[in-house]
Amino acid sequence: MSGRDTSEDSIVILGSGMAGGVAARTFREDGYGGRLVLIGREPTPPFGRPPLSKTYLRGEESLSGWFVNPEDWYEKNRVDRVAATAAHVDIRARRVELAGGNAVSYSRLLITTGGENRRLDVPGAQLPGVFQLRTVADCDAIKQAALRGARALVVGMGFIGSEVAASLTQLGVRVSAVLPGRAPLESVLGPEMGELMAGIHREAGVELVTGDEVVRFEGARQIEQAVTRNGRRLECDLAVVAVGIRPSVAFLEGSGVALDNGVSVDPSCRTNVPGIFAAGDLANHMHPLFGRIRVEHYNNAEKQGAAAARSVLGSAASFAYVHTFWSDQYEHKLEYVGHARTWDRFVVRGSAMDRKLVGFYLADGVLRAAVGVNRGGDPELDEHDEMAAAGRLIAKQARPDPAALADEGRDLSRL
Ligand SMILES: Cc1cc2nc3c(=O)[nH]c(=O)nc-3n(C[C@H](O)[C@H](O)[C@H](O)COP(=O)(O)OP(=O)(O)OC[C@H]3O[C@@H](n4cnc5c(N)ncnc54)[C@H](O)[C@@H]3O)c2cc1C
Repeated sequence: MSGRDTSEDSIVILGSGMAGGVAARTFREDGYGGRLVLIGREPTPPFGRPPLSKTYLRGEESLSGWFVNPEDWYEKNRVDRVAATAAHVDIRARRVELAGGNAVSYSRLLITTGGENRRLDVPGAQLPGVFQLRTVADCDAIKQAALRGARALVVGMGFIGSEVAASLTQLGVRVSAVLPGRAPLESVLGPEMGELMAGIHREAGVELVTGDEVVRFEGARQIEQAVTRNGRRLECDLAVVAVGIRPSVAFLEGSGVALDNGVSVDPSCRTNVPGIFAAGDLANHMHPLFGRIRVEHYNNAEKQGAAAARSVLGSAASFAYVHTFWSDQYEHKLEYVGHARTWDRFVVRGSAMDRKLVGFYLADGVLRAAVGVNRGGDPELDEHDEMAAAGRLIAKQARPDPAALADEGRDLSRL
């Protein structure tokens, strides 16, 4: 690695997270034998972040089970891991310039730098005890502060906020949560599911401060309370700000790589610049079924990381994955398949009261997405699994009879 490095055939993966780690493995599995460099600024080998808001946060498991590849895989497979932050990409010279002055040359470049947390730009946001959550270091800091009996404030109740609220509650921390909407996850899953999630959190003891936002954190030496727009004063020993992410693309400004809500890529994960590809949280992908979509979930990063690697190696296949994701909160498991930004009908199979249901999102009669709550099964293994069956209907842009969707007696895989 240096400014003089001019190796002829080298693939550089920029960003050593989920998508980057999977891409590295795919390159080797698919027979690429040339120079392979993986650049990343986090010390951890590529790993899955889900346990950071769940089992690892609660001290129930280590991260090793979540490593994308075993720690010694990189050396064994001649993957050159470079611990550095990219500062710029020079597309003419085909070089990634690193903070500190070095550079890495590439023949082909796969960008997988993911996202970074949005910060709350309010007074007191820098006070000790105000945390965010993306990295292992973030999680370790929250863990240290999350003592039994402490009071925590969670700001934002999207997936990460909801999972953190649940995990902290399970640790014996008293949790309040401030959110702009009426219910957790309402903007993604709709009002019915929002109400269900609100019930789950309230029952567990979380105070939901809805329709409100934090305007300031206060404290002498560390956070002591948060003040909301509606004038609530919420005392707390720690706060976790979970107000979403933005794509990590600052180093691409002015490079010539087209940016639009992340890195714009075509159906095969190619950017506008020949030889440069992107995958994962930062890729604004032209999906054959859903149109332009940027997905911030584990399964997408995993599948798209592999698909983009194959594109780098010359495949012209479209990445047509029908997206799936999951979330664990308390003892409840949510699963989602498809993609619905808007819908005009929500059909329920099962019971919201029992917290065991599948909800179907339809637009103009076409099934666009489905959400499952505590329905069990494994969509990857069981062809009769309801979520897997819903995924197949979504891929076909099917117009199933809503009455059949709602009928527990009807096998979804036969609709
Ligand atoms: C706490 C938490 C819990 C989650 N739980 C779930 C879940 O239950 N289910 C689910 O579906 N999804 C979950 N997700 C989302 C999932 O983890 C992400 O979608 C996934 O990590 C995206 O992978 P990625 O490779 O695109 O990005 P990342 O895994 O974030 O990897 C990007 C890497 O690039 C590095 N990087 C960024 N900029 C630079 C630079 N300039 N130079 C060098 N390196 C750089 C970053 O440090 C990082 O290591 C969770 C996320 C978090 C934070």
